[in-house]
Parts: sequence; structure tokens; C-alpha cells
Amino acid sequence: LIDIQDLHKSYDTLEVLKGVNLSVKVGEVVSIIGSSGSGKTTLLRCINLLEAFQGGRILVDGQPIGYRERDGKRVRDSERRIAQQRAMTGMVFQQFNLFPHLSALDNITLGLTKVRGLSRAEAVEQAEGWLERVGMLAHLHHRPSQLSGGQQQRVAIARAVAMKPKVMLFDEATSALDPERVAEVLDTIRGLAQDGMTMVLVTHEMRFAREVSDQVVFMNAGRIEEQGPPQRLFGFPQSTRLRDFLARSG
Ligand code: ATP
Repeated sequence: LIDIQDLHKSYDTLEVLKGVNLSVKVGEVVSIIGSSGSGKTTLLRCINLLEAFQGGRILVDGQPIGYRERDGKRVRDSERRIAQQRAMTGMVFQQFNLFPHLSALDNITLGLTKVRGLSRAEAVEQAEGWLERVGMLAHLHHRPSQLSGGQQQRVAIARAVAMKPKVMLFDEATSALDPERVAEVLDTIRGLAQDGMTMVLVTHEMRFAREVSDQVVFMNAGRIEEQGPPQRLFGFPQSTRLRDFLARSG
């Protein structure tokens, strides 16, 4: 479904991704772990086309996104095209990023009516279904400021999946939450995984990564240092850096 080939990304002179190769198959859950600054968030933002990248390709369903070849040159796609491509991925951020002036319900219906072209009635029906799925139906008229962090994050997840993306990207979705709120969000993510949603998660929750992932990717200094099924990566880490990282992460 997603094929990342030799991805290079710099912020000015700082090279953050130094040739990343990664494939994600339909229905797979891939967790990305690694120390702070290793480029995990940047990788997700490139997949979501929130960041430009200078080299390599990202293919979704075999089609390159973000850039195309024209007369042997690499050209950035139009903003309109990028918006369409971005809709293939649903992103959930650390800081929820809900629209503060809209209710939980309207945070979800907005994209369904404006982007997906549903009628208000259809959008409300679907949004209510998703709010129920994430256990937030009772709060449909509440604004983000009236919800806890965990509740806001569950609405943010419902909003992203309601758009029917091919893949969900989670960027440290629980790290801004109080410890007692983490479990409810992890349960929601686990539910989506069990339903067969393709997902890429950047996470510091090692136990969760071990439990839900098909593949775990360890990033170090802009490269994938080691990757494999969780039993192997956590049980029999090969590289010294991964062993040190796991020892530090508890
Ligand atoms: P963390 O676990 O702390 O979120 P990470 O592995 O997700 O770290 P990134 O957020 O991808 O790492 O950051 C990689 C590097 O890129 C860091 O050195 C960071 O300071 C730098 N960086 C990130 N965003 C920008 C930006 N917008 N402009 C300049 N440098 C940036």
C-alpha cells in the first residue's frame, strides 16, 4: 500500500532523513520507535505530505505522491493534487488539533460535507456512528474545551477515520495525555487495528507497540537501523543502539 524509497529530507542544512526505505502492506500495523530527534515525526509528516522532501519517492498504491517526473525533472505536484493525495492518509497528532469553535459532531461532519460532499444528514449519521465507535456519542455537542485530552483525542481519531483514508498515521497520539487517559486512546487504536485498518504509529509506548504491531521499525539518526516483527525486535535486538534504546525505555 505504501512504499517509501530512499527518502531524503532536510530542514535547511540539517539532514533529518538520510535514505529511508519502508513498505507497509494493506492491513498491516507498523510502529516506529527511536530516540528523540531520530526523524520519526518527520517521516510521518512526509507520508502525509505536510513536509516537502528533497529526494526519494513515496508511492501509495503504486502511484508516487507529492512529486512527479516532468522532462526528466522532479516537480512538486499542484496544491490541489496534494490535497487529494493527503486525503488518502488520516493523521492524528500529539496535540489533537480539533477545531476549537466546533462541537465534537461538527468537527467530524465538516470534512464529510466539505471534502467528501455528503449531505448534512448523511454526514451527521456517519459522524454519530464514529463517535459511538470511539465511545464519545454522549459528548457529541461538546466543544474541545469541554472535553478531557483523552476524549479530544478519541474525537480526533473518529474525525480522521470518518474520512475513510487508506492508512491512518498516529504521531505520538498518547504522549500529551495524563497517564490515566492513555489506556482509553490505546483501546481505540487497538480497535481500529483489529478491524484491519492499515496504520503507521510513532509511539513511545513500547508495550503497546509490541502488542499491536506486525512490524516494528527502529529509527536512529535519520535511518532505519533495525526492523522486524515485534517478537524479534524486542526479544532479540541485533544492534547495540537498539539494545541501549530498549534498556533506556524500560
Ligand atoms: P521526537 O520523539 O522528539 O518527536 P522525532 O524522532 O520525531 O523526535 P523529528 O521530530 O522528526 O524527530 O525531528 C528530527 C530532527 O529535525 C530534530 O533534530 C528536529 O529538531 C528537527 N526538526 C523537526 N522539525 C523541524 C522544523 N520544522 N524545522 C527545523 N528542524 C526541524
